[in-house]
Amino acid sequence: MSKRQLKKGNRFVSLKVKWALGTALGSLIIFVVLAMTLVSAFTTDLLRQERHSLQTSAATVTQRLDSSFRTEKQFDSQSVAGLFYQRPRHLEHEGSYYHQSIAQSLSNADLTINVYDAKGRLLFATGKTQLTLRRGADQQVHRVWGTSHQIYVTYRRLKSQSTGQTLGYLQVENHLTSYYQHLRRLRLVSLLLLILVIIAAGLLGYFLSFVLLRPLDDIHDTVVAVRNDPVKDIRVPAMKRYDELSELGQMVNEMLDQMQRYIDQQGQFISDVSHELRTPITIIQGHVEMLDRWGKKDPKLLDSSIKAVLQETSRMNSLVQEMLDLSRAEEVDVNFKGSESVVNDVVTHVYNDYKMVHPDFMFMLDNDLKEKVKVPVYHDHLEQILIILCDNAVKYSDKRKEIHITLSRNLNSVEIGVQDFGEGIGPEDAKRVFDRFYRVDKARSRKKGGNGLGLSIAKRLVEGYHGTISLESSLGYGSLFRVTLPIVEDD
Ligand code: ADP
Repeated sequence: MSKRQLKKGNRFVSLKVKWALGTALGSLIIFVVLAMTLVSAFTTDLLRQERHSLQTSAATVTQRLDSSFRTEKQFDSQSVAGLFYQRPRHLEHEGSYYHQSIAQSLSNADLTINVYDAKGRLLFATGKTQLTLRRGADQQVHRVWGTSHQIYVTYRRLKSQSTGQTLGYLQVENHLTSYYQHLRRLRLVSLLLLILVIIAAGLLGYFLSFVLLRPLDDIHDTVVAVRNDPVKDIRVPAMKRYDELSELGQMVNEMLDQMQRYIDQQGQFISDVSHELRTPITIIQGHVEMLDRWGKKDPKLLDSSIKAVLQETSRMNSLVQEMLDLSRAEEVDVNFKGSESVVNDVVTHVYNDYKMVHPDFMFMLDNDLKEKVKVPVYHDHLEQILIILCDNAVKYSDKRKEIHITLSRNLNSVEIGVQDFGEGIGPEDAKRVFDRFYRVDKARSRKKGGNGLGLSIAKRLVEGYHGTISLESSLGYGSLFRVTLPIVEDD
């Protein structure tokens, strides 16, 4: 692919990279939200379990201590430790939970049980204590800062079940070590997964865009090739897919075809015009040269040459005017949008004019319209179309000088017919009479003042107003031109 050209200061960033980045970012957001929700649900559940285990253990130990001691005096570190590690002797053979030693009944290794005497001195601890005694605490579980992270703690007052005397205090800590271990592992796994997801999504996005956007490269290459050489016959290669990009490729091809047609038409037009202008210019030049050599003193030659030059200049004048009309006719749908005219009035007007100007012809108007019908055509243009058709009918009728004009309507359109009984047009010529500069008999048409542009002007005007023009003709019997135009309905 050729190097991308950009305006100064603009950096080219491939759509594929943008796509890959977009996909990666999208996945990142989705993953983070998902991971956070999952981790939060998981940790909440874990913490609830830890809390529960702390409370159960505290309740069990309290119950065992309260029921085992009668007075504060018996409550010393040795007997408390004994109670923690020995099963009650009379229950040695029973296996129930309540008959195990306290240490055995504690299943959670993160728990540290601290027993204090009534004065708050530490009598016994099952592990490393992180907190000092939190007097005044109730039976609630609190989350407080330990040595390195937050821990759970709960506090109970110990009271002999038999005497009701305060024995001391119990403070149970849950260091949440396994919880933080789980949390760290979870965070690490999430992070690794996140990196993996971003890389995979980015790669997938890039690969997908590479495959899906490949036609863009073909379109780009074609446009660049045509820009460098507008007459190059290159098109976007056919794609075996049916999506927006194949549609775009097709549209680019159609646009290039149309552009090519315009270029061809332009070239053809210039060559036609030069060809048409060459004849009068050659004639004028011939006469002027002749005058220059011999005619200065020959009034007869002078007179005939001036007449010929005048005739040719007026022909050139009409040719230029018709070419102007032709080029203007191409833009009627833009420049004359919203114009309207009453078709009955225009047709009647032209019919009356022709009847007056050509008294040797028999004109007949067959009007089927019962009321006035409006067409979306600028008045002068409708008149111009009718004049072109009537002029031709007059020009190409030699023997039977009769012209019929008809006016009728269909559901949504109105039809104007101009029929003559003159020389007619053969089927091969009939296909081409609407082409620019086309004349069936060039010499004869020229003699009659024709440039071969009348019918092409009429066709462009009619089509510019979304109508149609057609021809039915038979050589030697006459021709019928039909113009159909849409009707403007009054609301
Ligand atoms: P021109 O100015 O030469 O008449 P047009 O475009 O109006 O050019 O017509 C093109 C050619 O079609 C004419 O040269 C003529 O040969 C043929 N033509 C047009 N109208 C008629 C007609 N009513 N009868 C016979 N031939 C016609």
